[in-house]
Amino acid sequence: MNDESNSPDIGCGPILPTTSRDAKPLRQQIFEYIRASGLVPRMDVAKALNISAGSVTTLTQELITAGFLQEFEGRARDTARGRPPVALGVAPATRLVVGMKLSDRVHSAVLLDFAGNQLAEASLNSPVLSQHIDIVTDEAETLLVNLMKNAGRPRSDVEAIGLGLPGIVDHDTGHVPWSPVLTERDVNVKAHFEARLGLPVHVDNDANVLTLAELWFGAGRAMSDFAVVTIERGVGMGLVLDNRLFRGGQGLGLEVGHTKVQLDGALCRCGQRGCLEAYVADYALGREASTALNLDGAVATDAGQMLERLYAEAKGGNEAARAIFHRAGRYLAVALANVSQLFDPAKIILSGEHRRFDYFYDEDVLAEMQKLTLGRGRPPTPVESHTWGDLVWARGAAALGLSALTDAVLGEGRVSA
Ligand SMILES: [Zn+2]
Repeated sequence: MNDESNSPDIGCGPILPTTSRDAKPLRQQIFEYIRASGLVPRMDVAKALNISAGSVTTLTQELITAGFLQEFEGRARDTARGRPPVALGVAPATRLVVGMKLSDRVHSAVLLDFAGNQLAEASLNSPVLSQHIDIVTDEAETLLVNLMKNAGRPRSDVEAIGLGLPGIVDHDTGHVPWSPVLTERDVNVKAHFEARLGLPVHVDNDANVLTLAELWFGAGRAMSDFAVVTIERGVGMGLVLDNRLFRGGQGLGLEVGHTKVQLDGALCRCGQRGCLEAYVADYALGREASTALNLDGAVATDAGQMLERLYAEAKGGNEAARAIFHRAGRYLAVALANVSQLFDPAKIILSGEHRRFDYFYDEDVLAEMQKLTLGRGRPPTPVESHTWGDLVWARGAAALGLSALTDAVLGEGRVSA
């Protein structure tokens, strides 16, 4: 510590303002509380946010006049005492938001209103692994047209798009250094999409949008600190700390799949050695399967097919196939134990494609994880696996759009999720 750091004229304490919900304007806090509650009487809003009934009356009246809220006669949940009070809720079918998830198999999209109700869905097959950004943008536009046709609404009703895609994604700038769905590196996906679609677009990686789906619509709604680990073609992770998605200091996300679980270990598709993905991703299992099971070359070219074959062999009692899944499960347990030790989350949610990976969700993996975690008499971190439909990613992306739009129309220009 030098002399300057002790000088009284530079002050002390954190310089940056808090990012907690208290930093939001009161009208936004009220709106978000009501949206999260569904339907709620005014007096409950005052109690929950610790503000006067008069302030609630004034601010909710402003929000009703502006078309954000609506009164619902006699619909409040607390009807125990006499006449049911008037409830407040988000005015339905206003301020539409699109959530879109791009993948190398099928793109999907949902249309939500400002209350989070799903009005329509659409999907588009895209069987080509990597494509030029112009083709991906074409496909996204077709998907948007189909979605609005399904909803029977004009595109002009949409106010924001949330977009999730695999790879390394800078949420703040929309810059994508690398994504498996794109042939180019260093593309500003946000700029391309906004220019083509004529709407504000908010971009994030697919593990983050899946985490937002849990935070906005799933089990994470009632938890302030939790982790989501996804096992798809790769291994992804999202983390919620203090009720919001943690995006890291450089905005590039948490790459649990490329944390090292073995020094000088197996070669990962990222070019480095010993990454978790090199032991548990589908291409890694496929690679092992091709040698262990002597599968023919035609099958060996497709990691997905290889995995299906390996899985069938394991289910049929093939010991070599079972051993491959068992070893991968042990590596996954190492990663889950590390997540538990580093962040002490209230829960770890395993999410993603389950059908092919049920060996990763069995008791052995959880027992191994607990063995690798320093317990000191405390209960182990609960691990849950969630099976969602394909549209969950798009719904999470829509939450990204909802959050940004809420800030834009009710906040003071702050960016949050
Ligand atoms: Zn790697």
